[in-house]
Amino acid sequence: MDKAKYSFVIPIFNEEKVLHKLFERLEDTLGKLDGSAEIISVDDGSSDNSYELLQQQFQKDSRFKVLKFSRNFGHQNAVTAGLDQADGEAVIIMDADLQDPPEVVFDLIKQWQAGFDVVHAVRQSRQGETWFKLATANLFYRFLEKITETKIVRNAGDFRLMDRKVVEAFRQLREQHRFLRGLSCWVGFKQGCVLYERHARFAGETKYPLRKMLKLAVNAITSFSDWPLRLSFLVGSVISVLSMLAIMGIITAKLFTDFFIPGWTSVVVILTFFNGIIMMMLGLMGVYIGKIFQEIKGRPLYIVETKHGL
Ligand code: UDP
Ligand code: MG
Repeated sequence: MDKAKYSFVIPIFNEEKVLHKLFERLEDTLGKLDGSAEIISVDDGSSDNSYELLQQQFQKDSRFKVLKFSRNFGHQNAVTAGLDQADGEAVIIMDADLQDPPEVVFDLIKQWQAGFDVVHAVRQSRQGETWFKLATANLFYRFLEKITETKIVRNAGDFRLMDRKVVEAFRQLREQHRFLRGLSCWVGFKQGCVLYERHARFAGETKYPLRKMLKLAVNAITSFSDWPLRLSFLVGSVISVLSMLAIMGIITAKLFTDFFIPGWTSVVVILTFFNGIIMMMLGLMGVYIGKIFQEIKGRPLYIVETKHGL
């Protein structure tokens, strides 16, 4: 089989409602491309009809290849699996729900042909998202920018194009807790951007509830920065210095004045305060140690159940 010029990687988790429309839009897009293309749909353990629909599409058109996971391994791992399989000279990652309009692919390709190796699709506007998601996302990206050394493109989701050589580099990164947006910047190469309007989801519901969003955010921060660890050292140090001053003050008061606190309130206040700080610091350490533990087990990032066309 000839290698396709373009590979599309599409993670799919319970997307039966959007797949028809997605295939339709993709067929249209593929027809307008200046070279051959393959679609790699990764079924991330869907419990609805998604896999059957993907299989049917593959029977109809063998460019629509399918990889099925044995269970839900998460969005970031699904994309990783797609990248592991993608043969194209340029690889495009996009969501299934048509929030990333396939037409933007032409802009990405234009930039790639102009010499960029990684082209991020940056969200200029986002329709159909709650103000809460917009506000927290915005805050989060700003915060992340401040605390990491890797320059992470703000407001870029996972919609991007990567050149073959970037994908090769990417495949070497096998860390467990993956924040692909960060990694795609971390690898280096010539990075470019394209602005686009992010549409509302075509159908179905978001697969990123608050819980998963928070998990992704914690992962992003702890994978790309040790600032929280340094912060805990800083907070600890400042509090120690302050408490030394307080202790000196108390001793002086006791020895040289008749100022005396009869109650134990102050003691309890100080105790609880410091215990709180200590617990917090320990918890923070725990997050990083937990990551080391996950990493040391060296488990595969995903397990493939079946493949079609790959
Ligand atoms: N997705 C996945 N596994 C998951 C969660 C999501 O493969 O565990 C896929 C999902 O099918 C979609 C993409 O990742 O193609 C983005 O998810 P979603 O649109 O729900 O996130 P949002 O756009 O709301 O942030
Ligand atoms: Mg979406």
